Amino acid sequence: MTDMKTIAELDRASVLHPFTQLKDFATGRMGDPTIVTGGQGVRIQDATGRSYIDGFAGLYCVNIGYGRTEVAEAIARQAYKLAYYHSYAAHTTEELAILSGRLVKMAPGKPSKVFYGLSGSDANETQAKLVWYYNNLRGQPKKKKIISRERGYHGCSVVSGSMTGMSFYHDHMDLPFPGILHTGSPHHYWGAEAGETEEAFSKRRAAELEQLILREGPETVGGFIGEPVLGTGGITPPPAGYWQEIQAVLRRYDVLLIADEVICGFGRTGADFGCTLYGIEPDLVTVAKGLTSGYMPLSGVIVGEKVYGVMEDAADRIGAFSHGYTYSGHPIAAAAANAVLDIVEKERLSERARVVGAHFQKQLKERFAQMEIVGEVRGVGLLGAIEFVADRHSKRRFDPQQKVGARISKAARDRGLIARAMPHGDILGFAPPLVVSEAEIDEMVDLAYQATKQVMDELARQPA
Ligand code: PMP
Repeated sequence: MTDMKTIAELDRASVLHPFTQLKDFATGRMGDPTIVTGGQGVRIQDATGRSYIDGFAGLYCVNIGYGRTEVAEAIARQAYKLAYYHSYAAHTTEELAILSGRLVKMAPGKPSKVFYGLSGSDANETQAKLVWYYNNLRGQPKKKKIISRERGYHGCSVVSGSMTGMSFYHDHMDLPFPGILHTGSPHHYWGAEAGETEEAFSKRRAAELEQLILREGPETVGGFIGEPVLGTGGITPPPAGYWQEIQAVLRRYDVLLIADEVICGFGRTGADFGCTLYGIEPDLVTVAKGLTSGYMPLSGVIVGEKVYGVMEDAADRIGAFSHGYTYSGHPIAAAAANAVLDIVEKERLSERARVVGAHFQKQLKERFAQMEIVGEVRGVGLLGAIEFVADRHSKRRFDPQQKVGARISKAARDRGLIARAMPHGDILGFAPPLVVSEAEIDEMVDLAYQATKQVMDELARQPA
C-alpha cells in the first residue's frame, strides 16, 4: 500500500480541491490534507488514526451513517449483475423502475415522473430547463425568468450557481447568468425591522416578491426556487407563515414553484420532506444527498403532473424530450438509493430525526443561547446553527478578519468534532447523520461548547 505521506504529496501536487484557498493549500499554510480512511456510524477516521464525530454527515448527506454493509452489498450485487446500461429511449433496469415508483409515491406535490442526474447542481440546471421548456410548449415564450432568494444555495453550475444567492459564488466566474433574479432572504434575525413579528416579516418578504414580479412583468417570470429550510446560506428555518405567503404570490402570477429538497429531503427536518413540514405544494422537486446518503452520486428532478402533462401533450408535435446524461438513472446508484430508502423506512429515520432532533435543539439552546458571543441559536430536526456576533444587543458582527466562525470550527475539530463554519458570517452549522443517538448529540454539543468557550476566552484576551 502507498504510504500516507506519499498520498498527501500526490494530492497536493495534483488535486484541484473544491472550495479551497489554493495558495494556502499549495504552500502548506493550511497543513496537510486530511486523508479520510474510514467511517462507522456517526464517526469517521483519518490516516493518523484520529476519530471525529461527523456533526455534518459529510456535506449533509450521510443520513444513514457510515459503514452500512446493506448498501455496500446492494451496490456490489448490482455491479456484478449489470454495472451499467442507459435509460434513453425506453430502456430501464429493475432498480431504476422500482426507485422511481417509490419516489413518485412518497414525494410532495403531485409527482408524476422522475428525471435523474448525478448532483444537486445538475438537477437544478434541469429544473431551469423544465421551466423554459414548459413555458415554450404552452405558448408563453417570454415567461422564463427564475427567482431565487438571497443566501439560497442551489449548486454551482452555470444556472444553479446563479440561483445560489451569495455573491462569492459568482465573483470572477461571470455569474449570475441573465434571467436569474434574487429576492430577500427569509432570515428574520437579520432581515426583520425592530419589533417586527415573524408573521409580519413573512408578509413583507412576500410583498417584496410580488413587487419584483410586477416590476419585471408577470408574463416574464416562470419559476421560483427555494429550500424549505435555507441551508448553506445559514441553516435558517422559515419564519412563521412564510411559505403560505410566498405560495399565494406565486399562484397569483402563475409562477412554478421548485422546492429544493436536496438537504431537507428524506427526513432531515424530522418530516419526510421539508415541504410536508411547512405545507409547501411544489410543482417540481429537487432531491439528492439523502437519496443515496452519499453512497453513490445520484439526484432526482421530480416533475409534477402540471408540468409533465404539458410535456407529454406536446410530444407528438415536437418530438423527443431532448435532455439527459449518459449516467441518468445509473443502475448501481439506483440500487444504492433503494437500499438507503429501505433503511430510512425500516428505521423510521424521519421520526427519529424529529425525536432526537427535539433533544438536539433543546441542548443547543440550553448550552449556547445565553453565551455572550451568541446572537441566535436556530434549527429544526437534525439541522442546527449557532450565529456568533460581537455584540448580541446591537447585533454587531465580528470583524471578518477575526474569522471567529472558522476558529470555533477548527477548535471543535481539534477536539474531535466536525461542525461546519458556514460560508456566510460567523456560523457554526450541524447536520449529523439521522442515526445519531441522544448520547452522541450530548457529546457533540459539549465539544462544540468547549470549542466556543476556548475562542470566546481568546477573544476576551485580545479584543478587536
Ligand atoms: N441544493 C441544495 C439545497 C444544496 O444544499 C446543495 C449542495 N449543498 C445543492 C443544491 C447542490 O448539490 P451538489 O453539491 O450535489 O451539486
